[in-house]
Parts: sequence; structure tokens; C-alpha cells
Amino acid sequence: MKLAARAGRIAPSPTLAMAATAKAMAARGIDVADFSSGEPDFDTPEPVKAAAEAAIRAGFTKYTPSSGIDELRQAIIDKLQSEQGLRYEKSQVLVSCGAKHSLYNLAEALLEAGDEVIIPVPYWVSYADQTLLNDATPIFLPTREEYGYAIDDHALERLITTRTKAIIVNSPCNPTGATYDRGTLERLAELALRRDFLLISDEIYEKILYDGATHTSIASLGQEVAARTVVINGVSKAYAMTGWRIGYAAGPKDLLTAMANIQSQSTSNPCSISQKAAIVALREGGAFTEKMVTEFDRRRRVMVERLNAMPGVRCRMPTGAFYAFPNVSGLLGRQSSPSGTILTPTDLANYLLQEFKVAVVPGEPFGSTQHIRLSYATSMETIVRGMDRLDAAFKQLT
Ligand SMILES: *Cc1c(COP(=O)(O)O)cnc(C)c1O
Repeated sequence: MKLAARAGRIAPSPTLAMAATAKAMAARGIDVADFSSGEPDFDTPEPVKAAAEAAIRAGFTKYTPSSGIDELRQAIIDKLQSEQGLRYEKSQVLVSCGAKHSLYNLAEALLEAGDEVIIPVPYWVSYADQTLLNDATPIFLPTREEYGYAIDDHALERLITTRTKAIIVNSPCNPTGATYDRGTLERLAELALRRDFLLISDEIYEKILYDGATHTSIASLGQEVAARTVVINGVSKAYAMTGWRIGYAAGPKDLLTAMANIQSQSTSNPCSISQKAAIVALREGGAFTEKMVTEFDRRRRVMVERLNAMPGVRCRMPTGAFYAFPNVSGLLGRQSSPSGTILTPTDLANYLLQEFKVAVVPGEPFGSTQHIRLSYATSMETIVRGMDRLDAAFKQLT
């Protein structure tokens, strides 16, 4: 059968694939130290579960309005107003089946052949693939590790063309754990207004920040900026609710209406039960997130300190999210007796998994040929065990 060309343009999500391999090995009884997964290891908070149970018991198990129930959209509006001073009407807020789905609706509503989307590198894998799936072209903006992956607005301006539709802003960033400072956001916003493109602000890690940092949404930099920004967020990361599939988008009315229409013809509403649960997460989940972030912080310090003590590795201290993104270029080109020469992060990840039972995600799908990604959203015990193995694995390379 001849498939659509777009199906051939993309690959399955490599982060999900690595996590699936690690889980399959664990299911066969192999003791894997798994750092591949992109989700909190915490359990969903009890009050959130209780709300879902109550929803089931009350028979709240039917279709809801396609864009999400009023009560949840109101909770989102209240959150954006109280935390970022943003003002939206209901028609500007769309609840979807996860933030990934929010981004997909946006890509479908916004992009056509020839359009360009600027994506700072390293980037979350789906930005590029969703752009390709919608016939547009990802334009990659390199950033420098030694400058904390900050966006260089001169480099950015050189990439802007009449085809530039949008730039993706992901702070805190998966995979680097970097966050943009206010100055960077201001320069980006100024460019978006002057050169007329959309800001897509993926704020899914906004609550997972360290060292007293606070989140600024680029949309909060002024009404003109908000009118050119789509804020993307969800409950997956902040409230340990990845499986519940609730994300949302807020932005300009015409665009959000188009996205809502697309959703109504593709998935209809996000899960009714999860919507009820998400209301409780948004309204009452703050203390849970704080506790989780305190624990992530402890793990972050241990993991990054251990990585930096390993030969051939250097790792920046992430300021947000729950990933370490060590530079392993010092190890590339070395030999291991069973696996041969390790030339790429993918070779290294395969060596680590096969020979040392450590699962990490190689940098290539994030646009890096020098890094691997390790999630510290896993137990301290796994971190200590896994770091011992990594240390041994790297010392065996000659
Ligand atoms: C996890 C993640 C998402 C998607 O989260 P959902 O579970 O779909 O809500 C979006 N962006 C980034 C950068 C992520 O890491």
C-alpha cells in the first residue's frame, strides 16, 4: 500500500522507544537502572485520584464539550491570571489530550507547505516531527552550551524569512534543563512583534525550577506580546499525571477557534474523568508540586555531581525540569571491547544499555551529537546504583 508522504517523514518518538526497551528488559527480570523516562516517578496526588473516582461514581463518563468543560477552562483562566497576570476568555482556552496534543492541534491549525518554524537546538523531539507532519519545515537555531543554551537574537534574526511562522520557546527546557532569563524573553518578544511571527511557549516544566527561580511566561510581557503567543501547558509534569492526558493551550481567539474545530473533528473531548481530576490538580496541587521539586532538587545535585566526577564527562547544573544533559564528547572515539569504537551518543547509549544495564537517551533525536539525557525523576537508590555503573562503564573505555 502506498502511504502518505508525511508518514515517511517521521520516526516513532525515540524517548518513548528507549523507555519501552528499558521497561521490556526489566520485565524479563533484568535489573536496569532506567534514566530514560520523561515522567515524574511520584504517584498522582490522592485528592486528584479522589476527584476522578467521584467523577466515575457520579456517571461523569460521557462526552463533554469538545474543547473541555467550563469548570476546567475556568480553572485554567484563573491560574493564568493569578500566576502570570494573563487574561483570557473561555473561547481562547482549549483543553486537549495532553500538551503534546495541544501542540499538534496548533501545528495543524497554523502550518502549511513552505512555512518555517524556528526551533532552538537542543529541542524536545516532537517539535520537529510535528512540524514535518504538517508539511512545514523546521529551521534549527543552534545555541551554545557554554552560554547556558541562551538564544542569540542576532543568530535568530538571520534565520527569519518571510516564511517564518513561529518560534518555539521551551523554558524550562527538555532536554537541557536550561531556563531563559527575562532579557532573553524580552528580546524574543520584541523580534516577534517587529518581524511578525508567533511565539509558541511550551511551559510544561514551569513549576519544576530550582534555587528559588520563578517562572515568567513570555505572554506576560505585554498585551501585544500575549496576542502573538500561544501558551502551552498541562498537568502531566507538575502533578505527576502523565497518563491522564490533559494539556491545554491559551492564545489568540481566531487561532484557538481553529484548533478547537480541528480537535472537534479528530479526538472530540479529552477524557471526562481526567478533566475533573485536572481541576483539583490546578486548584489544590501546589503543595504536592513543591514537595516533589524539593526531592528532584536533592537528586539533581547528586546526579550532576557524580557525572562531573566521571572521566570524559561534563555536565551543567540544570535550572529547571528533571533532566541532566551531560556532554560526553570526551568519550566519543574511545573503544570498548564488546561494542567496538563508540562514535556517537547512540553508540554510547547502546553500550550502556547492553553492557551495563543503564538506560539513557542519546542526544541525536534532540539535535545534539555530544550529549546524552538522563532523567532524575527516579529514586535516589537508582541514581546511586546507576551512577556507579556509568562510572565503571566510562572507565572501561580505552
Ligand atoms: C512531556 C512534555 C510535553 C507533553 O506533555 P503531555 O504529557 O503531552 O502533556 C510537552 N513538552 C515537553 C517539552 C515535554 O517534555
